[in-house]
Amino acid sequence: MRDFAYARAAGPQEAVQLAAPPHARYVAGGTDLLNLMKDGVQEPDLLVDVGALDLAGVQSSPEGVRIGATARMSDVAADPAVTAIPVLAEALLAGASPQVRNMASIGGNLLQRTRCWYFRDATAPCNKRAPGSGCPALDGVNRWHAVLGGSEHCIAVHPSDLAVALTALDATVNTLRGDGERSIPVGEFYLLPGSTPDRETALHPGELITSVDVPTPGRGTWSRYLKLRDRATFEFAVVSVAAVVRLAGGVVREARLAFGGIGTRPWRSPEAEAALVGRPLTAATAQAAGRALVRDAVPRRHNAFKVDLVQRALTQLLGGVR
Ligand code: SF4
Repeated sequence: MRDFAYARAAGPQEAVQLAAPPHARYVAGGTDLLNLMKDGVQEPDLLVDVGALDLAGVQSSPEGVRIGATARMSDVAADPAVTAIPVLAEALLAGASPQVRNMASIGGNLLQRTRCWYFRDATAPCNKRAPGSGCPALDGVNRWHAVLGGSEHCIAVHPSDLAVALTALDATVNTLRGDGERSIPVGEFYLLPGSTPDRETALHPGELITSVDVPTPGRGTWSRYLKLRDRATFEFAVVSVAAVVRLAGGVVREARLAFGGIGTRPWRSPEAEAALVGRPLTAATAQAAGRALVRDAVPRRHNAFKVDLVQRALTQLLGGVR
């Protein structure tokens, strides 16, 4: 590991000031960043520790839940305001292991890096890690890669379960930077890779995530998260589905669907949602939504199975809507 400086911020404003140099990085739980540093994948000059900032609370109101950026995943998953939103609690508990969830922060979870193993091998070419060096995943081992949202420069999947649930819930990411605060809808927070896969989010350099706002789902709304993975614990999604659905009189009045494991960012599908709204929720309509979801999929040599698997996952999850 390369040498680096370390500073502990006393408050959010001081953290932003400390993180002004271009090669500074924030750290809270460190469960992803420190592994990347040990492997030489990320080499910051300065770590600004925000783990002790007063940003760890979970506050609820009739409008929704505000989750502090440094709150631990396990604490958030156990909070009554969060367990009242099943898709959110289930996505939190589907991520990582109990030990990691006891350390990992909400902000760090949203900013964790892809599990593309070419990215995590500092000796391999990778446009995300070293722009212009190439993407060996396009024609290489791409079982874990995206079938939606990819480009000729990158097809890596975003690994966060939590981000998938937040996408279905229309959450907002609140931040602080040198010129003030701002709120970013989670649907605009993650960027498609395009020709700049090294840019993953809408955050500006040195911008600090302070909290996440989750609007309260409407009365009578059903929500769940289904994650399919290669083993039962501590594994990233092969495919996952977050569904927020409201039925009335047997007809779907509202549907918000987001998917993990298949897209280069947490994947919201307006096409799949439109295939459900205004129709009775049957196996046939769920299957039609699945077909709409994958209409533009670009499968690769090792990941074509995801196109079928994610449709089955959606049908299974929607089969439980009450
Ligand atoms: Fe790098 Fe993206 Fe290609 Fe993986 S898929 S090797 S992260 S450019």
